[in-house]
Parts: sequence; C-alpha cells; structure tokens
Amino acid sequence: MELKRNQYLIDGIPVTKIVEKYGSPLYIYDSAKMVSQYKRMTKAFSNTKVRINYAAKALTNLNILKIFRQQGAGLDAVSIQEVRLGLKAGFDPQDIIYTPNCVSIEEICEVADMGVRINIDNISILEQFGHRYGSSIPVCIRINPHILAGGNQKISTGHIDSKFGISIYQTPLVKRVVETNNMRVEGLHMHTGSDILDVEVFLRGAEIILDTAKEFEELDYIDFGSGFKVAYKADDIETDIEALGQQLSKRFNDYCKEVGRELTLIFEPGKYLVSEAGFFVARTNVIKQTTSTVFAGLDTGMNHFIRPMFYDAYHDAVNISRPNGKTRIYTLVGYICETDTFGWNRKITEISEGDYIMFRNAGAYCFAMASNYNSRCRPAEVLVHEGRDHLIRKREEFDDLTRNIVEAEI
Ligand SMILES: *Cc1c(COP(=O)(O)O)cnc(C)c1O
Repeated sequence: MELKRNQYLIDGIPVTKIVEKYGSPLYIYDSAKMVSQYKRMTKAFSNTKVRINYAAKALTNLNILKIFRQQGAGLDAVSIQEVRLGLKAGFDPQDIIYTPNCVSIEEICEVADMGVRINIDNISILEQFGHRYGSSIPVCIRINPHILAGGNQKISTGHIDSKFGISIYQTPLVKRVVETNNMRVEGLHMHTGSDILDVEVFLRGAEIILDTAKEFEELDYIDFGSGFKVAYKADDIETDIEALGQQLSKRFNDYCKEVGRELTLIFEPGKYLVSEAGFFVARTNVIKQTTSTVFAGLDTGMNHFIRPMFYDAYHDAVNISRPNGKTRIYTLVGYICETDTFGWNRKITEISEGDYIMFRNAGAYCFAMASNYNSRCRPAEVLVHEGRDHLIRKREEFDDLTRNIVEAEI
C-alpha cells in the first residue's frame, strides 16, 4: 500500500479503480504483503528447525490458503471444515494440525481418520482418543501454561479461568492417561492469546513448555502457538519478531542439545501473516451533522466488519477518494440498527457523500467474522497478486440469504 500522485495503490493498482470495478463494500488483499510477512518470520527463525502453520481462521479463502501452501507453510485448523478447506487447497494432511476446543470426539476421530495431526486440549478427549487409537495415531497435547498474555480478556487464552488447554499442573494425569493407553505424544502446544507484545512473555511461556516437554520422551515438535502483535497505526509497536527469533531459537537449540533430540519449533500465526495485507473499502452514504458530532455513515456495518465493536480494535481509516486536502473530524459509523461505530473522532481528509473510506488491517478476523445481520449480503473479496486484481469471492445476493429457508405450511 502506498500513496502516490493522489492515489492509494496496492501493488501498483489504484484502490479506487478496484472498488469501482467490483463494487462496495469490498475486501481487498495484497498477496505480496502476506508473502513478505511469511518470509520475515521464517528468516527470523532461520537458525533453528522451524515450521510456520498458517492459522486458517484468520482469513479462510481457499486462494489465501493456497498462497501459504505455495510458500511452504503448514496449516492450523480449528474445525473439520477448515481441515477440508486445507485439503482442498492442496495441503498434505500431515502438514495440518487440528486444534479443536470443546469439539465432539466424533468430529475429532473423523479428522484423525483423514490423516491430519491432532492436538488435544482436554483430559476427557485424551482418554477417549487413547482408548480408541492407542499407539496407532500420535497426538499433540495443548498445554495451558497459566500465563497472562494477550491484548484483552476476549483474546487471552492462557489464564487460569481459560477454557483452553490442559493445565500444566495436570501433567501427571496426562502422563497416566498416555501410559495406560500406550499412546504416543509427538508434540506439545501452547497458544496463550492474541496481540502479545512482549518478547519476554513468549520466552516465559517457552520456559514452561520446555520444562514440561522433558516429561515426554518421544516428542517431534513443540508448537508455540501465536499471538504476535502487528501495527495498527503509525508508530504502533509490534512484536519484535527478529529479537524473538534470535532469543527463542538459541534457547530452543540449546534445549534440543540438552535432551539429545532434534525437535521442530512450530508457530501458527494468523494475524501476523494477513492483518496488514487486508483492506476494507466502503462508500459514504451520508454525512450527518448532529449537535455534537459529524457522522460519516457508510454502506456497511458490524455485519461486515465487527472488530472495532467486538474487540474495541483500532482500525486506521483514510478517505481514498480525496487523499490530500484539509482534514476534519468524523465519527465513522455503519448502517446497521445497532451502534456500530468504526472509529470515534477521526481526523480524515474532508469527506463528501459518495467518497470511499478505506480501513487498514482488514486481513485477519474481518471477512472471516462477517455475517448476514440485518439481512445484508456479505461483501466480495479481491486478491491483488503479482500486479493483477482477481475476484476470489463473489458478493452475496438476495438468493444467498433465502437459500436454506424452508417455507413451512403454516
Ligand atoms: C486463533 C489461533 C491462532 C492465531 O492467532 P493470531 O493471533 O491470529 O496469530 C493460532 N493458534 C490457535 C490455536 C488459534 O486458536
């Protein structure tokens, strides 16, 4: 994304051109940014045996999954449907780790039978799985290291009250279940939350999981999850991936030497790989001045873009129809019958009705969380790849809303 001669460009293509071609509102993704983030991460960990599994739930379009597969990534899937999408995108089943939470044993077995790696996050499932498969299918265990991490409560998963993972204090019970059922534990996993800024927090979590790993002699990998923070505005601090790479790789290599086993270090980033590669563009329907506020009302809402309301997330917004000019203060809102505010009191170049507003950091958890609330259709998705724009998901139509409705004889 760059601003050049009064136009915002993605890989050389003016964003206004793309939205005029495909309509508004629109999600646009820049594959070059995804690839550069992936490469930056692999480079940061180039001193150790690392594998990056893309967390499919952040942005699940098949074309995006294919881009990461082509880069050599694996896949982190949290539902059988994501597993199926991964297989459809050409991932080898063994390159997919399935990390379900509170999912039925039936679904977990179905995924295991597809040859996908299974990450288990509670004792009950571990017992049932072990009873059924014994040593025939190895498992990964999701540990809850009980460290407080993450940008806010909704996205923190490692604390004591979290529903995720098996407490490290239950390791003796895990071992008992594993030994009794003659199971093989091939991996240990932790994922303590999203938007973790501090390299120290990762390292502290790493110490805990490495310590626990000594209890399992047949490990092939340790999955450190994700949670890397990206920049949401100018001067925003992001996780220092290079510093983390340097420090954790060294620690990990030393550990492997110490235990005499060559393990693979795994990460499963979503946001880090796709957040900044995504842009969401919407058209201004009305400028509405009230006694205290100037609202810019857009042709979209929390149905398409819920992060600002759900997580209080800050998403930078610019007027791409008029990038230069004097700025004024606007509150950006949606058209849904809820208070769906995208941003309060934003300084934006003067907006006229009809102008296109572009939100940044719209790659992760944006389209993926879109709904049909207020009976609105979900937007189209466009991928800019090697200097060309490609439609990768059609805009929904009215028929899509009624497709599964059954008109009962009432
Ligand atoms: C959501 C999730 C991720 C990805 O988290 P990001 O903050 O987007 O990088 C990774 N692993 C698991 C198990 C997840 O649930």
